[in-house]
Amino acid sequence: MTPVPFVDLGRQYESIRDEVHAAIDGVLERGDFILGKGVADFEQAFASKCGAAFGIAVDSGTSALELVLRAYGIGPGDEVITQANTFIATALAISHSGATPVLVDADPETYMIQPKLIRKAITPRTKAIMPVHLYGHPADMDAIMAIAAEHDLIVIEDASQAHTATYKGEPVGSIGHAAAFSLYPAKNLGAYGDAGIIVTTDPEVAERLYLLRNYGSVKKYYHETDGFNRRMDTLQAEVLSVKLRYLDDWTSARRSHAARYSELLSDLGAAVKIPSTEVWADPVYHLYVIEVDDRDGLQQALAERGIGTVIHYPVPIHQQKAYASLGHAEGDFPVTEAAATRVLSLPMFAEMTDEEIVAVVDAVREFVSGNG
Ligand SMILES: *Cc1c(COP(=O)(O)O)cnc(C)c1O
Repeated sequence: MTPVPFVDLGRQYESIRDEVHAAIDGVLERGDFILGKGVADFEQAFASKCGAAFGIAVDSGTSALELVLRAYGIGPGDEVITQANTFIATALAISHSGATPVLVDADPETYMIQPKLIRKAITPRTKAIMPVHLYGHPADMDAIMAIAAEHDLIVIEDASQAHTATYKGEPVGSIGHAAAFSLYPAKNLGAYGDAGIIVTTDPEVAERLYLLRNYGSVKKYYHETDGFNRRMDTLQAEVLSVKLRYLDDWTSARRSHAARYSELLSDLGAAVKIPSTEVWADPVYHLYVIEVDDRDGLQQALAERGIGTVIHYPVPIHQQKAYASLGHAEGDFPVTEAAATRVLSLPMFAEMTDEEIVAVVDAVREFVSGNG
């Protein structure tokens, strides 16, 4: 029996330990803890990786999403369309800006937001669309940008799970008006604590974001607007700059693990639905998500063999207590609701070994054939 963790950040740390320590030491020696040069350097490097002009480093992905809405003047009375099958933070960021999240259902094959349902959800109050590149697979950006252009809407990509994924060869983050990335430790690019970043090519929005994250101030003690304290620590920026140099290697490893999983799992036939990829997409597999009938049974069987799995996500946004006020009922988003009972994310991280992938698939096979 080979136990396999869902994710193992320790292995990655071992591989970059010396560089990380040197980067952290540098900050401790210089003492430039807040908005030090390391922050500007990381912003520049990450933005250029995304094909965007500006990067604005902040303290979390949730802050990144909220501040970008505020930078576009979106707030009370406005509606922002997003999908029902996302992490709670997408919806929270909309609520925190004062706007109302308007949910739509996802595509049953890819779990991406359905453009034709976005169209139906538009009202005179709609100000923005927030597609989520869920699990690392890009949303159908051309269709979304076309709807936005028709209705004069802002498109803010929630790219928190999709660092460097591409849509028709273009990196996510370079397609919408702006994009927000979480840099939470377990994301494809993760800090050693909370962090996030916004990228945009709009200089005016970038300028507002630099103000909003730092008390509304460029010059110390002079405040242009009632901003926030949402800065990224220099320590995290330095760690992220080290890790950014390895991101392409880690992404290739994730892609080859995903290909291996799919090759092995396709032998199990219809009992296991493997991830679908649209022709336009080059996903980065933040998560490798399968669907099975007896999802809870499979999760239990894998746990008994020491294999870690997670459900992304067990409760859709419209069924969360936090969003009871939206007034939705069961059946409103059938694809999302069905997925919530069927999806299971298998172990996925760059450093996992082929032996581990084979062990996971063997355990899935044993469960599925035992049940068949
Ligand atoms: C992780 C995540 C966020 C929130 O990021 P934090 O850094 O944890 O605030 C937002 N949206 C999605 C889709 C995420 O996966």
